[in-house]
Amino acid sequence: MTDLLLTEDERMLQATVRRFADRELAPRAREADEREEFSWDVWKGMAALGLPGIGVDPALGGSGGGYRQMAIAEEEVARGDASASVTLVAHMSLGVQTIYQFGSEEQKSRYVPLLAGGDGIAAWALTEPGGGSDAAALRTTAALEDGLYHLNGSKTFITNADVARAIVLFATLDRSQGSRGIAAFIVDTDAPGLTIHKQHGKMGMRGSTTTEVTLEDVRVPAENLIGEEGKGFRYAMDILDSSRIVIAAQCVGIAQAALEAALSYAQQRQSFGRPIAQHQAIQFMLADMATDVYASRVATMHAATLKDNGIPYINEASMAKLLASEAAVRVTSKALQVHGGYGYFKESPVERYFRDARVTTIYEGTSEVQRLIIARQILAQYQV
Ligand SMILES: Cc1cc2nc3c(=O)[nH]c(=O)nc-3n(C[C@H](O)[C@H](O)[C@H](O)COP(=O)(O)OP(=O)(O)OC[C@H]3O[C@@H](n4cnc5c(N)ncnc54)[C@H](O)[C@@H]3O)c2cc1C
Repeated sequence: MTDLLLTEDERMLQATVRRFADRELAPRAREADEREEFSWDVWKGMAALGLPGIGVDPALGGSGGGYRQMAIAEEEVARGDASASVTLVAHMSLGVQTIYQFGSEEQKSRYVPLLAGGDGIAAWALTEPGGGSDAAALRTTAALEDGLYHLNGSKTFITNADVARAIVLFATLDRSQGSRGIAAFIVDTDAPGLTIHKQHGKMGMRGSTTTEVTLEDVRVPAENLIGEEGKGFRYAMDILDSSRIVIAAQCVGIAQAALEAALSYAQQRQSFGRPIAQHQAIQFMLADMATDVYASRVATMHAATLKDNGIPYINEASMAKLLASEAAVRVTSKALQVHGGYGYFKESPVERYFRDARVTTIYEGTSEVQRLIIARQILAQYQV
């Protein structure tokens, strides 16, 4: 692709979000992490910049743009505070996009302006206590009776649900049908029978909220079925394919922050009579870190460019997610190493970057799942 370089508008978006992240996100990230606290002020700040509505037509209250713009914004938010970027991605590229891409006109006009404008937050609930990778085996049930779907079951590790206005939730109408028995629903969070508990004790991303969602005969109007019965699994996989681009951008942002911290520290810390940046061992770590960040960013923007241009992109999105998440773990670990003992304490932001990066090889498809997707695609392409 020729247009990996940012356009003038994209540069403006990047600069605007970077300024916001430097001023509003980075200074409070440590406290949010310590207190495990979701911040409405941070959400309102992101909403004021139009970030929750990226990827949505302005006619529906969105900010326009596509996956390139989502990736640019996500990277900058994650560079300032990875937790804020988890809140954003679960809303923007999971919850909102499912309704926007697969919802009826009525659903779109009812939910999308509210969510895209940031007046309400969206959550997206696929994972269950019994497993996340094997999503087709989900057990939450939906049964249609008298024009209402009755939902029963539980979801776990759901980002945003306790602060959300609506949850896009997947349930099975017929377990014997496997993935073809699954449907997607919009569930209002004030629905009777819905219980949402915050899950405490995460290793990282502690300023984002993760929840357990229990459904006991939750009645959802038939018009809240997204698309068609039996197609929910396909919608979920489509949405995950593209959202992985945004997660890859999140990884780039965390790794970029760690690289910058290491570059700064290495030029100030002295050992053996000179800044540690003058030791070749440290220089090599910095060079490897910068190379990881660069490769991850290029792969992410390439996948986003393919997606925005209607060119097949699923393999590239998986490769970008796999590469960027594993790179983020490597880069944050090296940044900690560059900081020596100080990097092991909470006074140093790299300790948080290291913990925040770790989950990225797990959610929105583990590294193992990405390798399965990539292997399947390349083996199909190179059949002998
Ligand atoms: C902070 C956080 C936020 C999250 N937010 C959301 C959210 O908003 N919505 C949502 O729906 N989910 C969310 N998740 C859930 C996340 O997507 C799942 O944790 C993830 O999909 C993995 O599922 P699991 O935890 O059940 O692990 P499992 O599926 O049980 O996997 C356990 C291990 O087995 C491996 N494995 C499984 N199957 C295979 C296989 N076939 N081949 C090789 N290896 C395999 C996995 O790679 C992993 O290493 C979140 C998770 C976290 C930690």
